[in-house]
Amino acid sequence: MVQNHRFTVSTRGHNDIIDVSEKVQCAVVKSGMTIGTALVFVAGSTAGITTVEYEPGLLKDLPELFERLAPSNKPYHHDATWGDGNGYAHVRASLLGSSFTVPFEDGRLLTGTWQQIVLIDFDNRPRTRTVIVQITGEK
Ligand code: ZN
Repeated sequence: MVQNHRFTVSTRGHNDIIDVSEKVQCAVVKSGMTIGTALVFVAGSTAGITTVEYEPGLLKDLPELFERLAPSNKPYHHDATWGDGNGYAHVRASLLGSSFTVPFEDGRLLTGTWQQIVLIDFDNRPRTRTVIVQITGEK
């Protein structure tokens, strides 16, 4: 069977990295399913989902990587069109991707001990994000 669960996350924007592992785990528990997959998806074109070890060094390394890949101080065609100054945020989000799929067993996510599921908000202002967890599995 398939169920959709939702939660919201308040971010500060500017590469804010939020650990959503517990919220995803809660959705799996609420679903009552014991084995299957959880697809974690963020709605919006300036945020993404991935996994990382949630520790202070990597919380600096990841934003620095994205700054090198899509610098915030370069001109973007998007900004010329819309004037919202967040072209870099859009291309970073495209690069990262908007979803992540994780298997679960006995109602527990099979992520590693040092592998957290994170939402990264690249936008240039605080945002409230809706995350959809689509759970496919069996009771
Ligand atoms: Zn924009």
